[in-house]
Amino acid sequence: MKVLIVGGVAAGMSAAARLRRLDEQAQIVVLERSPYVSFANCGLPYYIGGIIRERSQLLLQTPASLKASLDLDVRTGHEVLAIDRKTRRVEVRETTSGRVYHESYDKLVLCPGALPLRPTLPGIDHPSILVLRNVPDTDAIKAKVDAGAKSAVIIGGGYIGVEMAESLKARGLEVDLVEMLPQVLPPIDPEMAWPLEEHMRAHGVRLHLGTAAAAFRDAGGGRVRTELHNGTTIESDFVMLSAGVRPDVELARAAGLELGPHGGIRVDEYLRTSDPDIYAAGDAVETPHRILGGSWLIPLAGPANRQGRVIADNLAGRPTKWIGAIGTSIVKVFDMAAGSAGANEKTLKRQKIPYRKVYIHPGHHAGYYPGAAPMHIKVLFAPETGKILGAQVVGFEGVDKRLDVLATAMQAGLTVFDLEHLELAYAPQFGSAKDPVNMVGFVASNVLRGDLDLWYPEEFPEKTGDGVILDVRSPSEYELGHVPGAINIPLPELRSRAVELPRTKPIYVYCKVGFRSYLASRALRQRGFHVRTLAGGFDTFRAWHRGSLDDSEMRRAEEHYVEPALSAKASAPPPPQALTGRVFSVDCSGLQCPGPVLKLNAAIQPLAPGDELDVTVSDPGFLADGPAWCRANGHELVEIRAEGPVVRARIRKGAPKASATSATAALPRKQAMVVFSDDLDKALAAFVIANGARAMGMEVTMFFTFWGLNILRKSQSPPLKKGALDRMFGLMMPRGVDELKLSKMNMLGLGTAMMKHVMAKKNVHSLSQLMEQARVSGVKLVACTMSMDVMGIRREELIDGVELGGVGMFIGESSESRATLFIG
Ligand code: FAD
Repeated sequence: MKVLIVGGVAAGMSAAARLRRLDEQAQIVVLERSPYVSFANCGLPYYIGGIIRERSQLLLQTPASLKASLDLDVRTGHEVLAIDRKTRRVEVRETTSGRVYHESYDKLVLCPGALPLRPTLPGIDHPSILVLRNVPDTDAIKAKVDAGAKSAVIIGGGYIGVEMAESLKARGLEVDLVEMLPQVLPPIDPEMAWPLEEHMRAHGVRLHLGTAAAAFRDAGGGRVRTELHNGTTIESDFVMLSAGVRPDVELARAAGLELGPHGGIRVDEYLRTSDPDIYAAGDAVETPHRILGGSWLIPLAGPANRQGRVIADNLAGRPTKWIGAIGTSIVKVFDMAAGSAGANEKTLKRQKIPYRKVYIHPGHHAGYYPGAAPMHIKVLFAPETGKILGAQVVGFEGVDKRLDVLATAMQAGLTVFDLEHLELAYAPQFGSAKDPVNMVGFVASNVLRGDLDLWYPEEFPEKTGDGVILDVRSPSEYELGHVPGAINIPLPELRSRAVELPRTKPIYVYCKVGFRSYLASRALRQRGFHVRTLAGGFDTFRAWHRGSLDDSEMRRAEEHYVEPALSAKASAPPPPQALTGRVFSVDCSGLQCPGPVLKLNAAIQPLAPGDELDVTVSDPGFLADGPAWCRANGHELVEIRAEGPVVRARIRKGAPKASATSATAALPRKQAMVVFSDDLDKALAAFVIANGARAMGMEVTMFFTFWGLNILRKSQSPPLKKGALDRMFGLMMPRGVDELKLSKMNMLGLGTAMMKHVMAKKNVHSLSQLMEQARVSGVKLVACTMSMDVMGIRREELIDGVELGGVGMFIGESSESRATLFIG
C-alpha cells in the first residue's frame, strides 16, 4: 500500500509515524510545502520571546531523522498542487527548483492545516504586516525584533495574540493589542477574561477592545500606522496579524471533496472524506462537537494529533472511530493561565441550549499554606440532569489540573453531582481537602437541589429592582465598593438585624465570592425570607459590569477594582512628603481579608512621614484595597503591581493627620460598637469589624457591657476582697478569651475547640491576636462602669489598656459615629 500524506506537521506526522509502527510494509510519502517538517508550532511565540533559546529546539525532526528512525520518505519543499481522484495521482511542485511531477497513491491523507485570516483592509499588504503560522513566519518576526523594533500592534486577542503580546513585552517592545470583541480570548466568556485583561494591562500591554483595525498606512522607515474604527491611530515598527484561521481546503475543494457547514473538509466517523480513498485530519476538517453536537472547526494540536493516529489505525486495517472533540484549550498570559473545555455561555445561548451556571473563586491550594493563589472557575451544566456542558478556569497555579479534571468529567458524561464525590489528590501544597472541583460540584448541586437560589450580575439593575440588595460583607469591604443601592448588614449581625429586612420582597444577597452570602441565604431562608444569592459574588459582579455602570458607588468600586494602578495615579494625591530615604518592608502574604490591611496599618504606624514601605500581599484584592486604603489614610501609593500570584506595592507615609477622600469626607470617621455578648463568635466578629474600621482610618470605640465585659477579663485575676455574691458571680462567668464559648454548636466545648482549630488552620487570627491588634492600632476599649458594678467586676480584673466609661461617654461617641453596631 502506498500512502501519500499532504502536510508534515501535527496531524500528518502523527499519521505517518503511527502507520509505520503498525505497518512495516507500507510505502509512506509525506509531502510538505514548507522547508520544515514536524516543527513545534505551539512553541513559536516562545522562541520569539527568548524563552526557547535555540531555533533548533523547534525543529523536532528532519527528513533524514525520519528516514532513519521510521523509514519515511519525507519531502520538504514539495507542494501538492492538485489531486486527480480518477487516476489517484497528485501533482507536486518542488518549490526550490520549480519542477512539477506526479505521484500516485493508494490512499491519500490530507493534513494541510489552516491559513491565517487576512482581512481585506486598505494597506493589508504592507511589508511590515506579519503573520505567525510556521518557522519562516517566526524567522521574519524575530528578525524585526532582533533588528531593534520598539513597538508592535497585534491584531486579534485570541490565543496566539495574547501569547505574542507576552513574548514581545519580554523582548522590551511597546505592545498594543486590538480585539474586535469587547474581551480577549473569545473561547472563554467575557467576565472570565477580565482578570486576564487586568493582568495584561498590569504588564503594560495596551488593550484596545471592542474595536477593529480599519486601515493600515505606511508611516515611513518600514513603520505602519494602524487606524482603528474607534478613531485611534497607532504607529508601530510592525503589525502582527492573529485574527484567526480558516481551514486550508483549496486542494480538497478543487478535487470536488465535500465541505461541511463551516467550510472545513467533511469527514465521516473514520475520518474518510467523501472519497473513500482520501482521509483528512487536523485544522482543515470539521469534527463532531461532543457537547454541542453538529460539526465544528476546532483548530487545536490535540485533536489534530489524535486524528492522525485514528487515520493510521484505519489505514492499517484496525477500524477506529473518531469520537469528536470538546475543544479543551489553555493559554499562559504572563503569570496567569486561562483555559476552557466544552461549550461557553455565549455559544450555549446562540445554540439555544438550556443551561445553568455557577462561579467559584477559590485559592489554588489550602489557604494556610504559603503561596495560595486565586483562581476563578465557571461551570455550565444542564438544568435537568446536571450534565456538565462547559468549564472555564482562570488563575495563576493549578489551572491546568482543574481544567483537565473538568474536561475529563465532561467527556465521561459526568454530572455536577459526580463532581461532589470526585476523589482528587490532596496535600496543602497542591489543593484543598475539598478541591475547587469538588467545590464547584457542591455549589452547582446546591442549585439543582434547590438549596441555593442564585441571581446573576446580568439581572442587575432591571430584574433586581423589585427587592432589596443586601451586602453581607464587612463595612470596610462595603466601603471599598459595592453593588449600587445595596444595603450593608455584615453576616455576623444578620440574625439579630433580620427584622430590618422586608418579608414581602425578594432579598438579593451577596458577598465577595459567594460563601458568606450562601450562609446568609440559608439563615434568612429558614426565617421565611425570599432570598437569592449572587452567583460568584461581587468579584463576578464587577467583572461583568466593568466600565458599564455609571453609578457613583460602582464607580468607586471600579476605580478601586478595574484599573487600580492607573486609578491610584489618577486620583488626587495627598500632599507630597519629603522623602526620608528610609525604606521598610512588610510581608502580608498568606493573610485573608482584612488581614493584609491590618498588618499594613500596624507596620506603617511607627514610620515617619516620608518613609516608604514595601508591601507584599498574596490576596489579589489588595490591588483594589491598597489604593483605597492609601487614599483613605492620606498615604501616597508610589506604585502597585501584580507580580505572579502576589501584589507588591510601595507606599510613602503621609502627614500624620490622614485626609479623607472626597467620597468619604462628608461621613463621620468614627465607629461605635456595643459589645453585649461574651460568645466567642460574636466577640470575634466584633474585633474583626473594629480592626477593619480602624484599618480604614476610622476612630473606633468598643463599649463592653454586661456579658461583654467577660471578654476583657484577665484569665488570672489578682487576689481581691469581694463579697460572697460577687465572688460567686465571678466564678460562674467566663474569665477572659480562653473561656469563651460559641453561641451555637458548642457541644460541651468540642465545637469551640473545632472552631479554634479551623481558624488556626486557615490562618484566621485568634481572638487574643485580634484584641492585641485592636489595642495596638488604637481601638478604644471601654468597660461599662455600671455593668461592672452590677456584676462585681473590678478594674484590676480587666486586661491592660481598657478605659472605664459610663453611658454619657458612650452616647458622646455614638452620636459622633456614622453608625453604632450592637453585638449581642
Ligand atoms: P499544521 O500543523 O499547520 O500542518 C499543516 C502543514 O501542511 C503545514 O506545515 C503546511 O505547510 C502543510 N501544507 C499545507 N498545504 C500543503 C500542500 N498543498 N502541499 C504540501 N504541504 C502543505 N494548538 C494547541 O492546541 N495548543 C497550543 O498551544 C497551540 N499553539 C499554537 C501556536 C501557534 C503560533 C500556532 C500557529 C498554532 C498553535 N496551535 C496550538 C494550533 C496547532 O498548532 C494546530 O491546531 C495544529 O498544528 C494543526 O495541525 P495540522 O496538522 O492540521 O496543521
